[in-house]
Amino acid sequence: MKRNGRGRTELFRLRSKVSRQRSAISLLVLLWTSTALAQTPLQTYSDAFILQSRRTDPKIDYTVTVRGADRSAYYVEMRIANPPNPARLVIPNWAPGAYRLMDSGQNIGAFGAFTTAGDTLPVTRDSDISWTLDTRGASSIVVRYSAALPDPVQWHRPNNRWFLRATSGMIDGPRTYMYLDGWKLTPAQVTFRLPAGWRIGTGLVPTTDSTTYWAPSYDVLIDSPVLVGRFSTYRFTARGVPHRAVVDLAGATQGPRVQRVFVDMLRRVSETAIAIFGNAPYKDYTYIFVAGRGGGLEHLNSTTIGVTTDVLARNPGGTESVSAHEFFHTWNVKRIRPAELGPFDYERPVRTMNLWVSEGVTDYYTEVILSRSGLSSAADFNRRMSNAIGNHRGNAARLVVSPERSSWTVWDSPEVNNSYTISYYLQGQLLGFLLDLAIRDSTDNAKSLDDVMRYLFDHYGGERGFTTDELRAAIRSATGPNFQDFWRRYVSGTTEIPWDEYLKAAGWSVRFSEQIAVDARIGSITPAVQGGRWRAVAVPGSAAAAAGLVTGDELVRINRRVIVDGTDVTAAVRAVPAGGAVTVQVIRAGQPLTIRFAAGTYQQTRAVLTDLPDQTERMRRIRSGILAGSN
Ligand SMILES: [Zn+2]
Repeated sequence: MKRNGRGRTELFRLRSKVSRQRSAISLLVLLWTSTALAQTPLQTYSDAFILQSRRTDPKIDYTVTVRGADRSAYYVEMRIANPPNPARLVIPNWAPGAYRLMDSGQNIGAFGAFTTAGDTLPVTRDSDISWTLDTRGASSIVVRYSAALPDPVQWHRPNNRWFLRATSGMIDGPRTYMYLDGWKLTPAQVTFRLPAGWRIGTGLVPTTDSTTYWAPSYDVLIDSPVLVGRFSTYRFTARGVPHRAVVDLAGATQGPRVQRVFVDMLRRVSETAIAIFGNAPYKDYTYIFVAGRGGGLEHLNSTTIGVTTDVLARNPGGTESVSAHEFFHTWNVKRIRPAELGPFDYERPVRTMNLWVSEGVTDYYTEVILSRSGLSSAADFNRRMSNAIGNHRGNAARLVVSPERSSWTVWDSPEVNNSYTISYYLQGQLLGFLLDLAIRDSTDNAKSLDDVMRYLFDHYGGERGFTTDELRAAIRSATGPNFQDFWRRYVSGTTEIPWDEYLKAAGWSVRFSEQIAVDARIGSITPAVQGGRWRAVAVPGSAAAAAGLVTGDELVRINRRVIVDGTDVTAAVRAVPAGGAVTVQVIRAGQPLTIRFAAGTYQQTRAVLTDLPDQTERMRRIRSGILAGSN
């Protein structure tokens, strides 16, 4: 009832702001609108096919051009009919899902505003990311700028977000499209002008013009990355809903057997995740794969995933985990989201204590989906959860930085936690496991974390996300038990987790052991600014910290390996033998500095999930509930 009230207000605002759209795509439009508003009910039958707006509302069309052989920038033109005066245009400072500032204003070049007759309009740059124009009352204006790609050196191994190379490119919405301040709910059309032979792969709504797409709002527009260029397309259905994968291998190819395994994997992931919720909250879904660096980012009805050419062309199994993780985000975070994360304020950082839910519980479900879909075995599940438990137990930060705290401080340097770092992915993966075990235990396997996820989707998958109190209440409403105490200890607090108390419900116990491991430990975090250097985390007690590595040092090279991102750090550190020499070149306070040390040893904690000797029928049922999805 409360929800419906809010839904009406939101729908009204949307309807009053959107521009007139009387075309064949109106039906699609409303399907999309209802996706955007998730569970907001329609108010009348006509809501399903009519969008109403004032004739005088702004209308925005974008054109994005890749010019000939120029790979330095995307060139953007915005045509704005009925602009307000003054009109303030903003390029987002961060992108949902990637919680760091991008300094996106520095990518924008050659900004100009004109009347349709070509007269230049006065522009004031009022911040790093915003421009205010005096439209002089013009009924229609044209804005042009370039969105330049930083550091083209990296593009031979591009990330999964934003690049432009010889035969393809990825258009990252937040770094490419400006919004008209105050009018983010205005629908937008975008047309792509591309080199001959290039195609378009995106979750945006197609129109009758194959180069033009449509989005019901700015938020949806920028949440729909666009792969352009030469790539392969594979189509499949999951639970009757069309899905496809677009795969940019930058010239390499997948053989027919690899294609079959790859598509079968994606179908299984999709069907298993949809089965958890009962239906797909979109009308089609696009997996975008790019040969390059690792990483993935979730979007409303698509995801971009970067995988090395080798994995993509020969070993589709290497894409299972990231595919399951990103796809589960379609629900958890894109729709079920912490209240603070939407509507998005793109001008400043947005903090939440619940990234452990959005990312970590998604990591737990990654294992659940792989197991239930048959893509991994019970032994695989056991091994991966054992590793996670071991990594957690071996990290002293678990007793210092709570899951809520590590979520909250994502925007900060680890120095705010005295260089103790623990990932909310890891913490949330284990909290998801614990919650699932505890719910199943206290309800005799009648309820599970699946019920919580469904409840959250039903109640907080709309225009407003959940608060911490609502999350706790949701678990209680969906399943019965009260997790107040659990929260105080393990979510807000840093109490040691009594693993066996929880694991026994599914017939497991955990055995911890210590083994001598090479200590070349160097943690790393993302750059403070886009295109900047990855920064070091000096792990307390490590040989690197003893040798003088300081958290925040900008990493240049480790043992001659150039550090572009965290995968380089991991690879460089892993290659160091016991007693091996480590040379770390960093920049500190603008000055180059070299830190040398010999790798020492440390006691690494390992964990192994073992079966309890007396397996009861109840334990088997609970374990099967987790691994096979049966209650
Ligand atoms: Zn994620």
